[in-house]
Amino acid sequence: MIYLDHAATTRVYPQVIKEMEPYFYEKFANPSGAYDISSENKEVIQKTREKIAQALNAKPNEIFFTSGGSESDNWAVKGIAIANREKGRHIITTKTEHHAVLYSCKYLERYGYEITYLDVDSQGRVRIEDVEAAIREDTILISVMAANNEIGTLQPIEAIGWLAKKHGILFHTDAVQMFCQLPLDVGKGEIDLLSASAHKFGGPKGIGFLYIKEGTKIEPYIHGGGQENKMRAGTENVPYIVGMGKAVEISRKKLYATLNREQYLRDYMIHRVMEEIPGVKLNGPFRNRLPGNVNFCFENLSGASLLILLNEREIYASAGSACNADSSEPSHVLQALGVPENYIEGAIRFTFGEENTRQEVDEVVNLLKKSVKELRDSEQ
Ligand SMILES: *Cc1c(COP(=O)(O)O)cnc(C)c1O
Repeated sequence: MIYLDHAATTRVYPQVIKEMEPYFYEKFANPSGAYDISSENKEVIQKTREKIAQALNAKPNEIFFTSGGSESDNWAVKGIAIANREKGRHIITTKTEHHAVLYSCKYLERYGYEITYLDVDSQGRVRIEDVEAAIREDTILISVMAANNEIGTLQPIEAIGWLAKKHGILFHTDAVQMFCQLPLDVGKGEIDLLSASAHKFGGPKGIGFLYIKEGTKIEPYIHGGGQENKMRAGTENVPYIVGMGKAVEISRKKLYATLNREQYLRDYMIHRVMEEIPGVKLNGPFRNRLPGNVNFCFENLSGASLLILLNEREIYASAGSACNADSSEPSHVLQALGVPENYIEGAIRFTFGEENTRQEVDEVVNLLKKSVKELRDSEQ
């Protein structure tokens, strides 16, 4: 098979699985227990917190373990909204955010919050002037993703972070696609909250974290026990936390090697497709995008039909994001870009990982060429 859907999820590193294993059976103790095997687990959680903090240039007490990217996004948006409701009830975000952010905002609208959903330019980038123009007296939060999961567009998060700080507004970024894919430093970007998820970088599904800058006023999201400094209740998922830590360690070590390799495959594929297939548009910018992301729209073609043909050859890609796979609606991201009618149905996304090769890209492009022609011929 050729797996080109790494933005949907990644394979778990074998070393990660090995590292997790003892924590299911031998080292199964609840970290809150009053005995040795509990304190050992408490300690390993703390070690992992330190490791993750280091990867972001944060402090260990600013890392809060969650069940993944969706929970982190929900917590950031709703937790800030509730805790700061006396200060104001206005939030600024963009039209191309992940649904975990967008639907959290929609939810808040039902409780009297006002949300500004900013437009993006034709490449999916938000304009910093638009962010500034949207700021009001009662704005409490700006939430803009670091990198888009569908089209790979990188947002100017450092500039937005500084702008937010200047106006005394909190800044959250969904960095699920960026963390462990590109260098990230919360200090440089003046980031107050940042979401990440382990299964996007070689860790297990169902674990992630929210970075919350020390002193940020935020409501706990899950109430119950005193775990995570009384901010996120629930017995710690020790094996998964350990697994995420190992995945951070491994992917950080080869960050630049992977990044360069993926970027090479990305540019090679873009070049070949644009050169050899007529009626195609690249969604998102040529350069300022995630190293492993390619997203095309083919004119007068159904992306879904194209995926079926690829699937028959065990080539796995997606029509936009994995989350939209069941819906026949064109993606909200492509709509926000203003992709023309005759192109928007023909969207297809390929996302690379460190295991992909140039031969695979060649195989996929050759099949794409053939399939696009066949599908277009059959419709005439
Ligand atoms: C995958 C993804 C999420 C959701 O993360 P889960 O861990 O699957 O809940 C959120 N935001 C972005 C940008 C993503 O790519």
